[in-house]
Amino acid sequence: MSNTRFLTDAQLPFCKGCGHALVAQNTEKALQKLNVNPLDVVLVTDIGCHGIVDKSFLTHTVHGLHGRSSALAAGITAGLNNPGKKVIVFTGDGGATIGMQHLIGGAHLGFDMTVVVHNNMLYGMTGGQPSEFTPCGFKTPTLPEGSTKPGYDICELMVAAGASYVERVIGIGDYSDSLAKAFTAPGFSLVEVMEICPSYGVKSNPGMKLSKLVEDAGWNVKVYADGKGNSFKTPINSEPKSLISDKFEVKPKYSSSIERPFSIMLSGSAGEGVQSAAEFMAKAAIVAGLNSTKKGSYPVTVGVGFSASEVIVSPKQILYTGSPVPDVLIITSTDGLGYARAAAGRMKGGVIYIDETLDAPETGARIVKVPFRERVGAKNSAMYAVFYAVHYEKFYPIEALKDVFLSNKIAEKVNIESLLQF
Ligand code: SF4
Repeated sequence: MSNTRFLTDAQLPFCKGCGHALVAQNTEKALQKLNVNPLDVVLVTDIGCHGIVDKSFLTHTVHGLHGRSSALAAGITAGLNNPGKKVIVFTGDGGATIGMQHLIGGAHLGFDMTVVVHNNMLYGMTGGQPSEFTPCGFKTPTLPEGSTKPGYDICELMVAAGASYVERVIGIGDYSDSLAKAFTAPGFSLVEVMEICPSYGVKSNPGMKLSKLVEDAGWNVKVYADGKGNSFKTPINSEPKSLISDKFEVKPKYSSSIERPFSIMLSGSAGEGVQSAAEFMAKAAIVAGLNSTKKGSYPVTVGVGFSASEVIVSPKQILYTGSPVPDVLIITSTDGLGYARAAAGRMKGGVIYIDETLDAPETGARIVKVPFRERVGAKNSAMYAVFYAVHYEKFYPIEALKDVFLSNKIAEKVNIESLLQF
């Protein structure tokens, strides 16, 4: 058993006595028993109290929409196509109710993943409404007379759907062996962890014992399917075809002398080529032998308002695409200034290239005013600003950016010389 940490040292974010904390701790212990590398684990959480745990895990984490965690995880495991990776879903009984078809589909198709259902028989995050897992007689704050129907037996449902490994455990003490078995079972596995929410379940059902409640509900605490499985298996392709064809492969041609990651935020208006300019900037970094990421932000109404993009260029692997405090901020319009003002305020250093018609935001960064819009017009201002910043910041040779620009059909419409006015 390794002593690799899968949880941060921070206190787990649950009410005192909540069984969700034990699920997290048992998951860590199970993964330690399996000697897994945290970066080989993808934890997909659902909406609900359990879902706020993702900030406590040192693995990859994905926070899903209500009930959709299993569908997300199915896509992730199919895309990874690698039995060496552990895809684990945390969901509550509320999420399992809402996303039941995803669970049944996942089990039926045998996606290689483990679902851990935190079943406390009510919706804890929203104040204690009953779910379809609430058993007969169990009271909740919004159902004080108690449920008159039996709750779903998820274990029986999963066996019928074809899951490979299925077990129900009482969520008290050490049940890491059960989780470890599920994590190593081929195909789809599910562990249902029975809990009572201290804040709503215990208060509404004083004196009720969890094991008695489970027994009275007619649910067995046992292994329902043992890992040999009768499910279909996600085909593992030993030589998967690359999703990136030669057409999209970017080959390094230049080199860069930067020794640390730089984050650049480009912030302008919708319809002014912000996302394309940022994409060119990121792609050119790869042409210069660097790693790069690009993350776009824009309102749901994509045709109006701001359009912003964060690019990271780095000589090392980039493990996290976020960058709340950019090293370089480029602002090309009033919309862009509105969006970037908060980021500018967080900058204690670095540089802001801003269109000369705009007022400089409150910032600790150096301000450089440039007539982006006047020189090339609004439509090309973002692209020009990117050329300008790369020229002065020297993340990589400007030739890399020129190559990327000239290989795109946009070069037929925009004269590159107009972008090289420094
Ligand atoms: S409300 Fe209930 S389920 Fe949510 S964290 Fe508190 S004890 Fe846990």
